[in-house]
Amino acid sequence: MLENKVCIITGGTRGIGLETARLFSENNAKVIIFGSKQDSVDKAKDELSKDGYLVDGYYPDLNNYDEIEKIILDIYNKYGKIDILINNAGISANKKIEDTTSDEFSKIMDLNVNAIFNMTKAVVPYMKNNNGGVILNTSSMVSIYGQPSGVGYPASKFAVNGLTKSLARELAPKNIRVNAVAPGIIETDMVAKLPKEVIEPLIKTIPLGRIGKPSDIANAFLFLASEMSSYITGIVLSVDGLART
Ligand code: NAD
Repeated sequence: MLENKVCIITGGTRGIGLETARLFSENNAKVIIFGSKQDSVDKAKDELSKDGYLVDGYYPDLNNYDEIEKIILDIYNKYGKIDILINNAGISANKKIEDTTSDEFSKIMDLNVNAIFNMTKAVVPYMKNNNGGVILNTSSMVSIYGQPSGVGYPASKFAVNGLTKSLARELAPKNIRVNAVAPGIIETDMVAKLPKEVIEPLIKTIPLGRIGKPSDIANAFLFLASEMSSYITGIVLSVDGLART
């Protein structure tokens, strides 16, 4: 479905991002993963190579625009184009507001929001030159409902939806589609940190009766990255097992 498409995935070293890298490689995309550290990038590359997929990897500071701009230029020089960007790196929070410092709040915004701005700004000129592209953002179920603590996380994901909808309008005339996927509870390291007492009652509230798998989200990304969704832009697609009215 993605024959020869060049795709950058931030947070591509584990969880949802790594599974997306695997699925996109299986669909013949040329995948470049971004992670936070060299060892996690190397580990993910090794894991993918065991499945027969060779990917490139980088570990830029996503809040350093100059560093990102240089790496994106390197990628362009190597591959000749950039077709798809998945802004997936993210961190969560769960402390009450009284226990959260303003630095902790800013740290979430830096990765979950400002990094998306930086990455998107850096790739858009190449997508415009290439007569189009696809930008996908990882939002969250909490961008619809909020959550009872850790306000920085839902606040950042509301901002992700805002970036998605607004950039979809701005970039549509250049044939660049911008969409987001809002995962529910997905079985990754992020959720493994939560205690059983928190997860089990939550599962009871999910009509499909299970938490999600990284592949549930990767499949949604594949659809939104492919030509099958060529008339869809500016949506936040919920993938959460909840039956909505
Ligand atoms: P994860 O913790 O398994 O992976 C997070 C990824 O982000 C890793 O690849 C890591 O390298 C990268 N990352 C973390 N800090 C970074 C930094 N400072 N700089 C660069 N990269 C950094 O988490 P996941 O569950 O796969 O989460 C991926 C995305 O999905 C996030 O945006 C998260 O908010 C979102 N999400 C997850 C769930 C869930 O239940 N797991 C639900 C809703 C949304």
